[in-house]
This record gives sequence, C-alpha cells and structure tokens, in this order.
Amino acid sequence: MNNQKLIQEALEVLPGGVNSPVRAFKAVGGEPVVLVKGRGCRVWDADGNEYIDFLASWGPLILGHAYPKVVKAVKEEVERGLSFGLTNPHEVKLAQLVVEMVPSVEKVRFVNSGTEATMSAIRLARGVTGRKLVVKFEGCYHGHYDSLLVSAGSGVATFAIPGTPGIPEEIAKLTLVVPFNNREAVKKVFEEYGEDIACVIVEPVAGNMGVVPPKEGFLKFLREITEEHGSLLIFDEVITGFRLSKGGAQELFDVNPDLTCLGKILGGGLPVGAYGGRKELMSQVAPEGPVYQAGTLSGNPVAMVAGVETLKELRDKEPYEELGEKAKRVSEAVSGMLKEKGIPHRINRVGSMFTVFFTDKEVVDFESAKSSDLELFGKFFRKLLEKGILIPPAQFEAWFLSTAHEEEDIEEALNRIESAIREL
Ligand code: PMP
Repeated sequence: MNNQKLIQEALEVLPGGVNSPVRAFKAVGGEPVVLVKGRGCRVWDADGNEYIDFLASWGPLILGHAYPKVVKAVKEEVERGLSFGLTNPHEVKLAQLVVEMVPSVEKVRFVNSGTEATMSAIRLARGVTGRKLVVKFEGCYHGHYDSLLVSAGSGVATFAIPGTPGIPEEIAKLTLVVPFNNREAVKKVFEEYGEDIACVIVEPVAGNMGVVPPKEGFLKFLREITEEHGSLLIFDEVITGFRLSKGGAQELFDVNPDLTCLGKILGGGLPVGAYGGRKELMSQVAPEGPVYQAGTLSGNPVAMVAGVETLKELRDKEPYEELGEKAKRVSEAVSGMLKEKGIPHRINRVGSMFTVFFTDKEVVDFESAKSSDLELFGKFFRKLLEKGILIPPAQFEAWFLSTAHEEEDIEEALNRIESAIREL
C-alpha cells in the first residue's frame, strides 16, 4: 500500500492519523510520511523513497537503525518468550549498566516511557518531601503527565497549546513555571514558595524548545538553591542520557541531581524509561518504601536486552567525541549554506544534538526560541524531505547524529541539504 493510501486509512481510525501529534506534520505542512524500513542512518517510506535520517526516532537511535548487535539480542530473546511479568536477568544487567554509567544513580526503577519516568519521579519527590509544588521551565517538555504539561515544549509548543483541556486547574496550579536560564526568576519562586517546593525538574540541556544549552553555572545554581530549600533536583535526561556522554548531561556539566529520568537511548529503540537516584531516595519506592509505582510490562525482557546491548556498546566505545565532531561538521556546513543564501539563523549545538533556528536573536530560552520564523522552517523541512533528508517535523526539536552516519553519508547529506537550501 502506498503512503497516501495509508495516511487516508490512518485518518479514519487514529486521531489525526497518528499516535503522537507531531507525526501528523501539521506544523510543517505536506503529507506525513509512513516509514517501513530503517538501516544505519537511512530510512525508507511506503513509496520506496529513501531518506538520510537526522530524526533518529526522536533520539533513541544513537547507533543507527537496526544495529546488528541489538537486533541479534532481541531476536534471541523473542525466541525465549515475550514477557514473564516476573523478574528476568536482563533487567538486573541493565540496572547495573545504568548505575555504572550515570554518576548520580545508585538504584533505578524501569518503566515503559519517558512520561512514566518523570511522572513517577515527581511522585517520589512529593512523597519524600511531603510537599506539593513542582517548578519547571518554560519550553521544557517532560512527557504528557498532567503536572508537567504546563507551558511545555515539543509538540505542545509546536501547536501553540497553552495548557490542555483535561487538566484540572487545581492540578495545573501546583506547577510553577519559570523561564529557562533565568536565575532571578528561580530565586523569586523560592523566596515566595520555598517551603512548599517538592522539586525542580529540568532538561539539563533543553531539547524540546529546540536545543538550548544551560548558561554557565545555571545547573550548579539549581543544585545549590534546591539543596538550600530542602527541595529535590530532578534532571530529565530522557534525551541527554547516554547522548551527551555515557553519563549524560550530569557527567558533562559535573552536577549531580537527586533524581534522574531516562528513556529513549536507554531502550535502544524499544519502549523503556527509568528513574533513579541515591539509594536512600529510591528505597522510598514500593516495595522497599511507601511510594507506589508499578508496571505489568516494566522490565520487559525483549526491551531490556535492546537496552543492554545499546548501553554496552556506548560504554565500551564511548563514541561521544566522534559524534560531536560529526554534528559540528553538519551544523557548521548548514550554517555556511544558509549564510550564503542570506537567511538569518542561529544554530545551537551541544554534542551530537543541534537545532537550526531561523532568527537573528541568540536563543537562550523559550521566548527567544519562539522568535524563529516557523513558516520558513516549514518550507525548509519540506524542501529537505523532497531532497531525501529527514529532520524532526517541527522547529522546537533537535537533529540527532548517530554512529551510523559515516563520512560518505554526511557528504551525501550535505549535498542534498545544499540543493534544498538553494531552492528555498
Ligand atoms: N522528557 C523529555 C526530555 C523528552 O524529550 C520526552 C519525549 N520527547 C519525554 C520526557 C517523554 O518521553 P516519552 O515520549 O517516552 O513519554
């Protein structure tokens, strides 16, 4: 069946034809793409078109599509059964790898998505502090949990949804939103509400308003002010975990949060999330402690082996310098091409993730990210797609490089991008 027919059928039975809003390409226009195959850094749609992929399934595929060791382990595990609902050896192995690699994590609980990870971490923070308020940053996205869907980034920003129907005001009220990178605003909420703040949750490098790095010292400042007020600091490393270094952003910036949320790369392309932290905090989670959280398919053996093989590869090969270099090369080349064409832009890059903003302002928070020309972004996206380049179909997201982007692929990608930009 071809792409168009599949989309038509999808619209009949799925809201917007999709299972996650940004896939509908509403923000960029044009026909959504149905993908049927991925190998290395390339994907193919239902019409047989091939694309060089910088979406990487929104981050998980740091080793590229269908990485042989991961696929082999998954196939072998599938043969042994799909789910047991009791403990299996692979969840122990994956937990050991997480504890070994992520500096602040001594114990970890696996869940099935990033949303579940942040939702459970917030519950734990409220449970151990006995406080209700959560501080989050404008434009950061932490999944679709009620308490965190306030002034969120990613698809919520893309569709300009201020909050969302279905979240009672009483719940939204418990979330305090401050601008990213703004110390004064953080100080102010702590002055006013300090004793009631259970936690501050942050993407240590924002990815969901497009890539926005933390200003010098901002994460250390968050560490100090939360400690001073007896609040917990939660790093949402669903994107940055195992992406920016093997220990994530906390290793790169040398700041240890109390709790860490993980997802994406952790499952190597299968649905896995996790939250973890110091032993004394994690021991408050049931059955060791009173804070309840559970999951029928949590620690699923097939998903766990995909994670194990992925993390082992990252631990042993530490491809981070190489990934960063590749992303630098691509982003600088794209910047040069846009400059030549006279298109104002800013590119924010941290390691192997970056975003091209069509603005002449420095992008340091959501307000400045929103100065990007979204119409031009849509045109840029569609032109790239036409030339065989897949990037996230929304401005407030990140491009990702994988170890599967080889020299020749990058060369070819840059040629395709150049021809797209020439026709903008
Ligand atoms: N946190 C961050 C930083 C994310 O980027 C995302 C998803 N893009 C989530 C949480 C939610 O993860 P999931 O989509 O797996 O629920």
